[in-house]
Amino acid sequence: MSGKLKVAFFDLAGCNGCLLSMLNRAEFYEVLGLIEIADFRLVRAERVEGPYDAAFVEGYPGSQEEIELLKQIREQAKILVALGSCACTGNLQAIRNFQGLEEAKNYVYHGRLKLDVAEVQPLDAYVPVDIYLPGCPANGDEAVYTIKCLAIGKTPELVTHAVCVECKIRDTEC
Ligand code: SF4
Repeated sequence: MSGKLKVAFFDLAGCNGCLLSMLNRAEFYEVLGLIEIADFRLVRAERVEGPYDAAFVEGYPGSQEEIELLKQIREQAKILVALGSCACTGNLQAIRNFQGLEEAKNYVYHGRLKLDVAEVQPLDAYVPVDIYLPGCPANGDEAVYTIKCLAIGKTPELVTHAVCVECKIRDTEC
């Protein structure tokens, strides 16, 4: 890849814990020399329009507006990264799928949140996702590692199984 990796970070319905977990890593500031941050609402107001080499998206689309935003991000991004379990699976937010939108709005969010999507669904229910970084919050080290790999044109090698699997493979008892 020639030049810096143009990266954008977005937060849909979620708690910002995944993005904060990444910002809390000292290594994140070391990769800043390799990337151009095009959009990062938590960090600065200034925005650079796409297209992006990579977009990291935290949270799930909770409103029609956010579904449209997600589709626009997908069109603009060569690589779309689902950051955190809300983006990868719907996570705890999906509990409201058993409760109903109106009840959730009134009793959990006290009418404060703009939610108009009946069912919580992960990003890949709406658009193709290239890289999944699950975890609640997402592992900040993995997020920084992924940025670093993409910046040098390498595919990140991510562990996709739980540590329990490694013990089973080695016949290590619990
Ligand atoms: Fe927050 Fe967890 Fe969702 Fe990340 S995965 S946005 S930390 S609830």
